[in-house]
Amino acid sequence: MDYEKWSLNAWKNMFKEIYEDRNLPFTPDQVLHRLIEETAELVKPILTVNIKDIQWHLADVIAWVCAFATKYDIDLDEVMFSKYVEKTPGKPPGQTPLSTFAVIGRGRPENLEDWQSLLNHLYREENENNPPTLMLLRLMQDIGITSRKLRARENPKEIRNKLVGILGWTIAIANKFQIPLHEITWNKYSNMCWRCQGKPCRCFKLATLFISYSEETAEQMKMIRRMLDESNLKAKILEDLGSAFRRNRVVEAFNAISESDGAIVLLGKEWSANVNAELIEIFRAFDKGNVKIYAKAVSDSERDPRLKDLLKDVEQLHEIYYYPDDEKLQEIVMNNLTDKLRELHELTK
Ligand SMILES: [Zn+2]
Repeated sequence: MDYEKWSLNAWKNMFKEIYEDRNLPFTPDQVLHRLIEETAELVKPILTVNIKDIQWHLADVIAWVCAFATKYDIDLDEVMFSKYVEKTPGKPPGQTPLSTFAVIGRGRPENLEDWQSLLNHLYREENENNPPTLMLLRLMQDIGITSRKLRARENPKEIRNKLVGILGWTIAIANKFQIPLHEITWNKYSNMCWRCQGKPCRCFKLATLFISYSEETAEQMKMIRRMLDESNLKAKILEDLGSAFRRNRVVEAFNAISESDGAIVLLGKEWSANVNAELIEIFRAFDKGNVKIYAKAVSDSERDPRLKDLLKDVEQLHEIYYYPDDEKLQEIVMNNLTDKLRELHELTK
């Protein structure tokens, strides 16, 4: 695969193409905040040595390192070469620089794997002796120093140099757990956003909403569609196909979901295999903030046990709005839409 040969800047460009629109309103400080958040996500999996989760979050750290490099216009290959090859760390000035030929078979690391091998060689002893928690602390320290330098509006060169440290420690952590960074990053971001599978990512947009409904919530669907029309939002609804148990509807629904930016789910008392399938697809496709679930407030005995169980599961990860009547539903949906649109407006202003 091509990505195996990608330079650091090629990875940076891939993330730029996926997330440039989304990151456009972010200042460098805000991008760094996201990097801090993602690094914090590594704490638990590293403490519990959960390799799968370490891989999952390391890919995000790489994504936000690249986003920062894009925002701050950093040539990743160049800054890494300058720090780790030109002036080999730990060696007094004047001493022969490290022979990269001996380690990776060429004079200059060309891809992520080369960098991993080279840094593994350079820091073999430290990496063997350092516990991974200490490496994570060093990574956080470099992010903290970068943050301070950014706040103090220091020379951009200083900030570029610090980013090298961040990338260096990220690679060190990957080496510690023998995780091939290019593989795990590609597994999560194969030239598209892992969540919406879009390039560019459309997780942050809200122009078209998919409305998932069943036969008993068809009237509520119509009401909400009128509200969306008034808010200049587009609704994607599979009204023509009805809510019957048709195989076609599932295929059509998945297409409609992939063309939408978010979803409104209307649940009543009855269970429907279609709505269930749609709900799973909706959770897969959209950012949590772009999905709103509304369920009719009824007593437990009135609701189909299968739907009751489903709601219980969903409640673990998502807020469900229970509505007693249509009037209340309208009010909650309107409030949610207004909040969401305001939030997006803030983000893109
Ligand atoms: Zn996305």
